[in-house]
This record gives sequence, structure tokens and C-alpha cells, in this order.
Amino acid sequence: DAKANGRNCHRFFSEDMNDIAQADAALENELRDALSENQFSLEYQPIVDAQTLEYVGLEALIRWDHPIRGRLLPIQFIRVADDSGLMDLLGNWVIGEVCREIKAHADEGIDLPRVAINVSPRQFQNHNLCDELLASIEANGIDPSKITIEITEELLIDNNDEVRATLDRIRSHGVGISIDDFGTGYSSLQYLRDLPANCLKIDRTFISRIEHSAADRAIIGTIAHLAHALGMRVVAEGVENDAQLDLLRISGCDEIQGFQIARPQRAENLRKLFDGRKVDQPSRSAEG
Ligand code: C2E
Ligand code: MG
Ligand code: MG
Ligand code: MG
Repeated sequence: DAKANGRNCHRFFSEDMNDIAQADAALENELRDALSENQFSLEYQPIVDAQTLEYVGLEALIRWDHPIRGRLLPIQFIRVADDSGLMDLLGNWVIGEVCREIKAHADEGIDLPRVAINVSPRQFQNHNLCDELLASIEANGIDPSKITIEITEELLIDNNDEVRATLDRIRSHGVGISIDDFGTGYSSLQYLRDLPANCLKIDRTFISRIEHSAADRAIIGTIAHLAHALGMRVVAEGVENDAQLDLLRISGCDEIQGFQIARPQRAENLRKLFDGRKVDQPSRSAEG
């Protein structure tokens, strides 16, 4: 009967929730071990100038080389890292690793372009985020403008004064701030106006159908126009074919990122990719 069914539903629901909680707890333990056993690595996805197609940036993307499950993507573990508080440790590892990579290349005379680091909202609850970022930059002798942090609109929802102060401080040291996945969250013109961000990344969902959608083209053109008026660079992410690339090049986007340009690369490949790009010399074209 209905009542029994209801109870069953409830029971199944609880068991599902239990399963999820247990899976999360297991993953959390594995994450802890993974941190101490150095199972994380970064891949770097090139970003190019929309007009010249020269490399102008890289985005660092975390990977987990799981001993049994193979290389895992962030979607498979970032949420649990966030919820368990481990994201602070993991995030600091990412920051340190990026700075070390830039320095290691500089030591070999290779000038990597600026590197973007994703920072989850949870990491802003760590009061030391800014200090640790600046300390890593300084310890590796890096020009702060070589580093950008990517934040999402989610961080800005409750208009938190401390978050704002941290962002101002980060920016005042010359580190770049990008708003990632723009257009998918709670976009508010107020924060676009007030934030110290200097770059806006238009989310892939607006790019993926651009060649079929006049509406998406209008949205992208308008976002680019607004961002430029506010003094920000505009990056289009998730560009997957030449038709999209061509449309974005005429739509006012400054920079392009996507599989059509380059897949995320293992750190070992960066040497080959940027070998010709000596410190303080003009960079090579992405097409050359
Ligand atoms: P995101 O910051 O928006 O990064 C871009 C994602 O889009 C990456 O996925 C990248 O591989 C993927 N992508 C790039 N070009 C294309 C394309 O042309 N087509 C398609 N379909 N996808 C493309 P990935 O590496 O799986 O990362 C997913 C998300 O995980 C990132 O989204 C970011 O929010 C988060 N994440 C990655 N690394 C870190 C990290 O070190 N720390 C934190 N807190 N979050 C990270
Ligand atoms: Mg990003
Ligand atoms: Mg993004
Ligand atoms: Mg995204």
C-alpha cells in the first residue's frame, strides 16, 4: 500500500544517501593518502591570442593519478576535497607546484606565459590564502603578473567583505584575477563593476552552439563589449572547431582556449612547446 511504499521510498532514499556518504568518506581518506603520496599532477592548457594565435597563457588543471582508477579528472574529486576541507591543502599544493614549474622553466631560460590557477570558493575561507599565494610567488622569484587566479561567480554571491578584501589585496600585488565560467552563475553587473578582476572567461555553454545560434553570438558580443568598457580582457573557453574560432575572432574576444587550439598538456610537454620562447624574447606563434 501507499504507506508501505512511502516507507520503502524513504528507506531506499536513506540507503542511497548512506552509500553516498560512505563513498565520500572513502574518497576523503584516499585523498588524504594521495596528498602525502604525491599522486596529484597538473596539466596545462594553452590559451592563445585570438588574432595572432600566439600562446599568451596556460591554465593549470589538476589531475589525480589514482593507483587503481587511473588518471582522475577534477569533477571526480574536487567536491569531496571542498566538503572535507582538504581543498585548502590541495589548493596550496597547486599554487606551489605552478610557481615551481614557472621557476624550473625560467632556470632553463624558458619563459612560460602567465599561468591561471583555479581557486574554489572554499579556499577563500582559509584566511591565509593570500599570504600563501604571495609567499609562493616570492619564494620562486616570480613576477606576480605571471600568475592569475580564476574565481567563479559562486564566490561572489553573498558579497562578503573579507573575500573582497582578499581579492583587492591579491590584485594590488599584481596577480591577475579572472572570473571563470562567466554567465552560468549569479551574474550581477554590480560585482562586475566593483570587483578588481581584469579578465572574464565566457563559459563554454555560450560557445558550444555559437555557429548555430544568433542569440549566443549576440550574448558573446555584448559581454565582450561590456568587459572591455570595464577594462577587462575577454577569454572564450571550450572552442572546439574552426567555425567557432572564426566567429569568436570577430566577436571581440581577446583570447581563445579550447580543444581546437590545444588539449591540456602534461608539464613535461611545456618544454617542447615553449622551447623557442626565451626569457624576454618575442614568443613563437601557436601555428608556427
Ligand atoms: P574550468 O576552470 O572551467 O576549466 C576548463 C575545463 O574545460 C577543463 O576541464 C578543460 O579540460 C575543459 N576544456 C577545455 N577546453 C575544452 C573544450 O574545447 N571542450 C570541452 N568539452 N572541454 C574543454 P577539467 O580539467 O576537467 O576541469 C574541470 C574543472 O575543475 C575546472 O573548470 C575547474 O573548475 C576545476 N579545477 C581544475 N583544476 C582545479 C584546481 O587546481 N583547483 C580547483 N579548485 N579547481 C580546479
Ligand atoms: Mg578555470
Ligand atoms: Mg572555465
Ligand atoms: Mg568550467
